[in-house]
Amino acid sequence: MAARAMHKPAHSHQDDREQDHEHDHEHEHTLVPSDPALRVKSLESLLVEKGLVDPAALDALIDAYEHKIGPRNGAQVVARAWVDPGYKQRLLANGTAAIAELGFGGRGGDHLVVVENTPRVHNLIVCTLCSCYPWAVLGLPPVWYKSAAYRSRAVIDPRGVLREFGLELADDVEIRVWDSTAELRYLVLPQRPAGSEKLSEAELAALLTRDAMIGVAKVTLAQSTQPGGRA
Ligand code: FE
Repeated sequence: MAARAMHKPAHSHQDDREQDHEHDHEHEHTLVPSDPALRVKSLESLLVEKGLVDPAALDALIDAYEHKIGPRNGAQVVARAWVDPGYKQRLLANGTAAIAELGFGGRGGDHLVVVENTPRVHNLIVCTLCSCYPWAVLGLPPVWYKSAAYRSRAVIDPRGVLREFGLELADDVEIRVWDSTAELRYLVLPQRPAGSEKLSEAELAALLTRDAMIGVAKVTLAQSTQPGGRA
């Protein structure tokens, strides 16, 4: 791995879960897979070829971390903030510390900043340079989060990107785009949906989606708890 040591990144975007960060960010690097990505792919191919792992099992594992296990941590953080004003205040003042109160977090040096959506402000998270992501609270980033299209267009045309995700925001809603790094990662505190006043903290947590905490969706009441409700 001597070669890798020579690739000191222009800025520190390393992540122990995402070794593909370890290269110079000054060039467009999406055309050729990074050295670690190729190594991982080769290793996976070899293990599959020898019958040691089932690719479907790997996909299921990744899916679990992308959609289920990871984002459930963030969901607990947001639900607590919705029901406990004191916690919400601490969360917005010092995200890392408030998130640690619930037992989430991890590696030192990571600062988690929580940005709050309001009727007038909508927050959107991106990592324009690679794929820095608040994995302590959201798990693994989705594939689209790492795509060149999302990384560039989220900044240039956030309203258009949100529209493609099916989120149409009124013209008077300000969109704030937050560019993540390894040192500073963001989590969106979505708006609590109207009509959720009687739900318990656990029921509120169940409404939260990964996409809402990245800022590409809003939180809506589940169909079952929304008799005759809106779409
Ligand atoms: Fe990054």
